[in-house]
Amino acid sequence: MIKHDVLIVGSGLAGMRSALEVCKDLDVGLLSKVYPSRSHSGAAQGGIAAALGNSEDDSWEEHMFDTVKGGDYLNDQDAVEIYCQAAPRVIYELEHFGCVFSRTADGKIAQRSFGGHSKPRACFSADRTGHAILHALHEQVLKNAKSIKIYSEWYMHQLVVVEGRCCGVVVSNVRTGEVEVIHAKAVIFATGGYGRVYKITTNAFASTADGALAAFHAGVPLEDTEFVQFHPSGLYRQGILFSEAARGEGAYLLNGNGDRFMEEYAPSRMELAPRDIVARAEQSEIDAGRGVNGEACIHLDLRHLGEARIMERLPQIRQLGIDFIGVDCVNEPLPIQPSAHYSMGGIPTDMHGQVVVDADNTPMAGFFAAGECACVSVHGANRLGTNSLLEATVFGERTGRRALEYARSAEFAAFNEGHEKARVLKQIEEIFQRDGTESYNDIRNEMKEVMMEKCGVFRDADNLKSCIATIQGLQERHTKGRVTDKGRLFNTELYEIIELGNMLKMAEIIATTALARQESRGGHYRTDFPKRDDQEFLKHSLVYQSEDGMEIKSKKVIVTKYQPKERTY
Ligand SMILES: Cc1cc2nc3c(=O)[nH]c(=O)nc-3n(C[C@H](O)[C@H](O)[C@H](O)COP(=O)(O)OP(=O)(O)OC[C@H]3O[C@@H](n4cnc5c(N)ncnc54)[C@H](O)[C@@H]3O)c2cc1C
Repeated sequence: MIKHDVLIVGSGLAGMRSALEVCKDLDVGLLSKVYPSRSHSGAAQGGIAAALGNSEDDSWEEHMFDTVKGGDYLNDQDAVEIYCQAAPRVIYELEHFGCVFSRTADGKIAQRSFGGHSKPRACFSADRTGHAILHALHEQVLKNAKSIKIYSEWYMHQLVVVEGRCCGVVVSNVRTGEVEVIHAKAVIFATGGYGRVYKITTNAFASTADGALAAFHAGVPLEDTEFVQFHPSGLYRQGILFSEAARGEGAYLLNGNGDRFMEEYAPSRMELAPRDIVARAEQSEIDAGRGVNGEACIHLDLRHLGEARIMERLPQIRQLGIDFIGVDCVNEPLPIQPSAHYSMGGIPTDMHGQVVVDADNTPMAGFFAAGECACVSVHGANRLGTNSLLEATVFGERTGRRALEYARSAEFAAFNEGHEKARVLKQIEEIFQRDGTESYNDIRNEMKEVMMEKCGVFRDADNLKSCIATIQGLQERHTKGRVTDKGRLFNTELYEIIELGNMLKMAEIIATTALARQESRGGHYRTDFPKRDDQEFLKHSLVYQSEDGMEIKSKKVIVTKYQPKERTY
């Protein structure tokens, strides 16, 4: 029997940071379907926010205000407050863990500008910030190997919940195909986002909604799933990210006529308006036929920054352009388009990472979540750049601490291990029995296409309804797919089929909650309801699984310091 005091699923920033907290006193299992340092956190480029005030005077209050305004006032402000206050301490702690940050001339941690932040507060390691932080944390995890056992390339299928308390997970060892049950006093999910639901995305292959769906199937609602962030600068047709840091360093956005079109949309912040606004501006230019060379793309122009600055601050972006499309941004602009990037919604938690199951914050004992898979909610309807690495770190720590406190006094729960295992074995067997003819690749591509087209930057009722119908058709076809590998060892096809099932459900959830929110706020824009409607919709959505599909309820938004105002830039 495998047993850990605390079992953490996911080894990105949130998972590793929480492991470091729990291992101070208890024994930890850290499980990841990819090798830990290949988690998507390692792809983060631009920076991590904190009001250090190293370049200009700054304060956590200003950081908080920018975050709330950026989130279109849907953020829970009590959580935003502790989060912005914690930021400077967390940065110095990462530095002491060994994270190498870029420096100012006098040796302080350098900070650059980012969209929606009124002060330069992005701390960075050139344009490889996530890589630097993830590896520093990985080193700390390895240093604590005595109390942290890593399960690398293990796949989490589902939660074990007995009488309303979470007491373990059912997992597979990907290498051997063995299905195992892990008993735990507490489980922390740090499973990241679900950008792979969309055709054009910056997200890694592992970002497939497994954690959100495992929680959903265990009776936990999902919060604010209609809010998906589109990043303004993904590589045209491929989505690979060119960090907002490029614009933070001064790059321009140009339409097909060579105009800096942001003047029309956000005259005071221009290219450094929040992402929802810039992505919509780009899409509007493209839809009006002002894309570059009549195509569905915009230009990101860095030429005026010069080679020296690009090589010092943005070397990875330059290399990505050269490697993927043969364009050197020192001499030519890069073609970009809005790309699905971040999930503001997720598993609802309180400020301590405790998962809650209703509008009254009733906890599910033993179950915690942190990082992108969780919805605290510090980002509200739209996340500001550099606020996510900060969230994963701050709430990774807080969640680890709370799970540690809980597990210290909790006992292992008794449950029927065979029964839990049988549920997963049955699912796998059912997949192996399929002798259909449908291609899973076709189903995946059609899902991505319809989500991009009908549930993307702009949405309306007709498109969303048609999107939901298409997704439901694909769910049906998913049960009739052609399975070619029925072996046990390293059967990646099997996990891809399960992941696709999760994504199809997630796609339906996103579109269903998007249809219900009849207003425009942050990353959710309805062309048939173009205004924000605080009267009806200043509330979080909670979507539950119900007998006949889904049920949507709501939850109050916590407003403390900053009353909702019109949002202009
Ligand atoms: C290209 C890119 C650039 C970004 N740049 C920035 C930036 O500069 N600043 C910023 O603040 N934010 C940035 N972000 C966002 C930020 O990186 C992420 O939101 C954050 O790193 C998420 O961390 P996490 O720990 O929650 O999850 P992740 O790092 O995504 O880790 C998820 C973990 O869960 C595991 N997992 C998932 N499902 C399962 C399963 N079924 N079984 C086992 N394990 C599972 C995975 O293996 C992985 O270890 C960027 C995102 C992208 C995609």
